[in-house]
Amino acid sequence: MTIPSMAAPHAVGKGGEPDIVFSCLKRAGDAIARDGLANVVNATIGAIRDEEENFVALKSVEEYYRQLATEDLMNYAPISGLPNYLQAAIDFTFMGYQPEGTYAAAVATPGGSGAVRHIFYNYSEAGQKILIPDWYWSPYETIAYEHKRGIETYQMFDENNQFTLASVKEKSEQLLKNQDNLVVVFNTPGHNPTGYTITNQEWAELIEFYKACAENEKKKITLLLDIAYIDYAGTVEETRSFMQLFKGLPANILISFAFSMSKSYTMYGMRSGAVIGLSSYKEIADEFAKVNSFSSRAVWSNNTRGPQRLLADVAANPELKAAIDKERKSYYDLMVKRADIFLKEAAEVNLQVLPYHGGFFITVPTENPREIAAKLEEKNLFVVPLAKGLRIAVCAVPVYKMPGVATKIKSVLK
Ligand code: PLP
Repeated sequence: MTIPSMAAPHAVGKGGEPDIVFSCLKRAGDAIARDGLANVVNATIGAIRDEEENFVALKSVEEYYRQLATEDLMNYAPISGLPNYLQAAIDFTFMGYQPEGTYAAAVATPGGSGAVRHIFYNYSEAGQKILIPDWYWSPYETIAYEHKRGIETYQMFDENNQFTLASVKEKSEQLLKNQDNLVVVFNTPGHNPTGYTITNQEWAELIEFYKACAENEKKKITLLLDIAYIDYAGTVEETRSFMQLFKGLPANILISFAFSMSKSYTMYGMRSGAVIGLSSYKEIADEFAKVNSFSSRAVWSNNTRGPQRLLADVAANPELKAAIDKERKSYYDLMVKRADIFLKEAAEVNLQVLPYHGGFFITVPTENPREIAAKLEEKNLFVVPLAKGLRIAVCAVPVYKMPGVATKIKSVLK
């Protein structure tokens, strides 16, 4: 007898699709083996590479991490996270821009991914839709699906590359007609894959809009700010001043953040982050800590203790913090330099690029992205084809390889 599947009905058919980034990466690796590193542009990787294309771990972070006490490296952490870590995650998220009269609560999660999971699960109902941007990090969809939620997308840009607030509003209103809980994802500053940062003006308008929606007290609106790239998208003021606008919000608007140590501390594989909730009501913040901590116990128990100890110590050690900030800034500056070369050349050859303000990636919108990416691969230029464009990882391509990239893409698009 052939048994085609042992999985329970809800799990049948799940998974198995090849990971697009890793398959591009593999082909880039093959090309490098064949033609040599100097002759291949590998713009597929979502992690910082130095000018020799080696993986970057901030030295100040790595050195501090390696000397942590055995207990901090190996022991359990509390389910919610080390208290000093949670405070540090809150402090490093707001950096002085937490609005007056608000309460913040945090629960440790395995990276920002864990935070996304908790918000999707605890702040929307099964069968409901999560509203995400049309240019999106694909795990949002995977996480929603895994938890029996669907996704709906809002358009990010109009034909003039302006952020389309109108679409966010329209889609939010549509969903609120059919569901009382609404989770809306904003991946800003330094959105993946475009690099867009929502402006303070746009935030002000969004907040007014959601306040009006929340006048119906049956509606519970949670905004999830995925801030994975926040430390590579500008100054503290540029990346955080908008947070001050989350002031005096009604109890039925919850602001939440997916805080991640993956990029900011180059601790990607250490799986450390936090879900942070912000409310003008203490009861809501207290509930946030309780429901999310319960979920942690139920899904992954506690999180790795080492990165938590590291962050807590960084918060208490201004010299260490300054060293990390300085080192991170040098890589951020490098990324800006790489992006500038690409963007300047794109403007010269008239290549359309979505608005880039920071972060690890730049996007070129195009039809037939797979076909275009395959043609670029023939020229030893490896990018990731998305549903509606090409993703170029400026975090990974050295400065000396940037000239010519935009021109090559333009020539293939022609
Ligand atoms: N959000 C976005 C948009 C990302 O690109 C990533 C990582 O690639 C994450 C969140 C979260 O990553 P992690 O779970 O490693 O913190």
